[in-house]
Amino acid sequence: MRLSETAKIILERRYLRKKADGSRETIEELFYRVSNAVAAAEKMINPQLSSTQVNKIRDTFLQMLTSLDFLPNSPTLMNAGTKLGQLAACFVLPVEDSIEGIFNAVKEAALIQKSGGGTGFSFSRIRPKGAPVTSTGGIASGPLPFIKVFDSAAEAIRQGSARSGANIAVLRVDHPDIKEFISLKSKPGTLRNFNISVGLTKEFMEALENDGFYNLHFNGKVYNRFKAWDVFSLIVEHAWSNGEPGIIFLDRLNEGNPTPALGEIEATNPCAEQPLLPYEACNLGSINLSNMVRNGQVDWGHLAETVEWSVRFLDNVIEINKFPLKKITEMVQSNRKIGLGVMGWADMLFKLRLPYNSNQAVELAEKVMAFIQEKAHAVSSALAEKRGDFPNIDISVYRGQRRRNATCTTIAPTGTISMIAGTSPGIEPVFALVQTRRILDDYAVTQMNPVFEKYLTENFERTTRDRILQEVKRRGSLQQVEGVPEEMKRVFVTAWDISPEWHVRMQAAFQAHCDNAVSKTINLRPTATKEEVRKAFLMAYHLGCKGCTVYRAGTREEDVVVPGACC
Ligand code: UDP
Repeated sequence: MRLSETAKIILERRYLRKKADGSRETIEELFYRVSNAVAAAEKMINPQLSSTQVNKIRDTFLQMLTSLDFLPNSPTLMNAGTKLGQLAACFVLPVEDSIEGIFNAVKEAALIQKSGGGTGFSFSRIRPKGAPVTSTGGIASGPLPFIKVFDSAAEAIRQGSARSGANIAVLRVDHPDIKEFISLKSKPGTLRNFNISVGLTKEFMEALENDGFYNLHFNGKVYNRFKAWDVFSLIVEHAWSNGEPGIIFLDRLNEGNPTPALGEIEATNPCAEQPLLPYEACNLGSINLSNMVRNGQVDWGHLAETVEWSVRFLDNVIEINKFPLKKITEMVQSNRKIGLGVMGWADMLFKLRLPYNSNQAVELAEKVMAFIQEKAHAVSSALAEKRGDFPNIDISVYRGQRRRNATCTTIAPTGTISMIAGTSPGIEPVFALVQTRRILDDYAVTQMNPVFEKYLTENFERTTRDRILQEVKRRGSLQQVEGVPEEMKRVFVTAWDISPEWHVRMQAAFQAHCDNAVSKTINLRPTATKEEVRKAFLMAYHLGCKGCTVYRAGTREEDVVVPGACC
């Protein structure tokens, strides 16, 4: 296998399992373990299959993983074929408006967290601060102090796990405690295990567009009336100041809900790419687009084949996935949601010599994702013919059709698996051409973009190359480097070289052909303005995105990645 040093370090420190004799498995053994466990599902679905047939499928999976054409989400890499066996990255749990309900959710969250899954919670059902508590005759504390309880529980569990399950707290914009929620993370170091996100409603967005007011209500009682613009400005202010909160568009998430008869979607998983009903979970996997380029062209045939096997792989994962809660097992097996997405998009564009911030790139994004989505749906239908439809199909929007999975596509951040694959994360532009990145809690590395490095080697003689490299190591970007051809500057752009508008346009292009949602962070330079954040949020809404997240460099205690080489 061709793995970078970074990939080896991550795999060795976090992913390799202990064997029965106490020794650690090798990287090759890891990929074999995963392929073998996922192929074993074939026999569970079709007991007639011979061992030779199953082994053939295992070898196809193994080839797909070891060529780094496709990788499943981290819990699958870590836990497939192990006793724990929890393979999904995304969960949503309900939080009811009672002490029993709240602490039951804390317990359920703890069990998920232990297995490395990320959990989303809507706290919108908890009565607001000051509302009466009948049983005690007292008054309610509101949702905020309870979020801190969830965070403390998560902190305690984090200490003992291979991967900390991330968490997100969502509060509807019309919950009476919304203003305090928006500023919940303004003090550095608070709620370390939680992201926060405001659930914006259609009513709120309309009030915002008309410069009007909207009601803050709970259980039919109106508590207050705020000017939409004031609340929006507060969100923008805080997002600008440290990236929190993000926003999600609740009505839009529900427009994409394939099983509305089962309830409303109130939350997403932590990085917001996966809207889920309470007790649903979803396993993700991502195709490495950088590997789908041959001779400077998109290799559509190879992409089609990879989608086909990826969907099958992800559907098999559902068969063998072990959840800590029966309710989750039941929900997952009834809807069979999977989330196939992409990584390496920026590297693909580099190889095709298309600037990320260009109409051609946005058009290609639509074309690539539409292709993946169409093919994934076709494969899911074909699997349904052989394996059966997802059990809830008759109460879903797919009634009358064949479908094995209630959803097929999701674009994850691929924070770790893209590093294992040695490619750019998700659909993000590269952060910098040379960057220093924390890859583990206590380990940082300097990385040079491999496509850029190859281009430099192939197109410049040594002295010019060294001069360019020296500058890029200092700045992370090519834009201010003298003597670099304009065309090269246009192609090799980084997150900060691209205006927020292009980030949003790219997110919208992928969202247009994605069943679930798209994880995307608009990485802003330190000097970005609140006005830019405001515009990006509004544009995300107008272009059909399901949410929007920004992060302005230097606004948290420590940035995970910084441009340039360290020291
Ligand atoms: N996630 C988590 N903890 C982490 C990273 C991720 O719980 O430390 C969850 C979270 O729900 C996130 C999802 O996994 O939205 C996918 O994240 P990513 O694609 O970065 O995961 P990878 O598979 O690359 O590790």
